[in-house]
Amino acid sequence: SVEIQGLSKRFGATTVLHPTDLSIEAGEFVVIVGPSGCGKSTLLRLIAGLETPDTGRLMIDGRDVTAAPPAERELAMVFQSYALYPHLTVAENIAFPLRVARRPKAEVDARVRAVAAALDLDALLDRRPRALSGGQRQRVSIARAVVREPKVLLLDEPLSNLDAALRVRMRHEFARLHQQLGATMIYVTHDQLEAMTLANRIVVMSAGHVEQVGTPMDLYRAPATLAVASAIGSPT
Ligand code: ATP
Ligand code: MG
Repeated sequence: SVEIQGLSKRFGATTVLHPTDLSIEAGEFVVIVGPSGCGKSTLLRLIAGLETPDTGRLMIDGRDVTAAPPAERELAMVFQSYALYPHLTVAENIAFPLRVARRPKAEVDARVRAVAAALDLDALLDRRPRALSGGQRQRVSIARAVVREPKVLLLDEPLSNLDAALRVRMRHEFARLHQQLGATMIYVTHDQLEAMTLANRIVVMSAGHVEQVGTPMDLYRAPATLAVASAIGSPT
């Protein structure tokens, strides 16, 4: 589980995240939506440990990780920019987190093969990122994120650079990946369809705070505010 307790963040004089509480169960698929600049990426980066909160606590599986460095949080993050290593092959990119963790070569090879198969990358293992399409790069960045079997997977608008057809295909792949991994997924998107179809629960944010949390159907049927209705696309 991921327990967010009173987490807040200021940049200079601007509060970008007001004290926020949020409880996410192990294995849940939570989608965060809200307008540009409302603090979605900041919340993910706080969970990942890439930003330090001004107040509050973060617990992962009952362990207080508020002060833990990112590498000790048993989570992985997929960035919108993919951030692959251009000089490494696909196989080497995927293997990278295991190499850093000094896993034995046999284990590294087996894990890379398994993850590549799951993400349909078998035929691309010897290529460099520049020889891949956007969707293929995205799948490599996801493979690299899941290769260590994180308990929590953070995804910041992972499909925003892809065309419509690929978004549909990747949406189905995320649903499958979630089932396969059994990991807790926290997924930021602007896409209402992604939110409605992927989420167990949707978190609607607005101007640095959580506006409403609920199942897609809850929020669609009973949006608490206009901001929620507009984020979910429910009739008002
Ligand atoms: P988008 O949908 O456009 O990605 P977001 O909801 O992810 O938006 P954040 O990136 O979390 O928004 O930013 C929230 C606010 O914090 C914005 O007003 C942004 O300008 C500000 N902000 C983010 N990072 C910093 C920083 N390092 N220094 C100062 N301000 C920042
Ligand atoms: Mg963002």
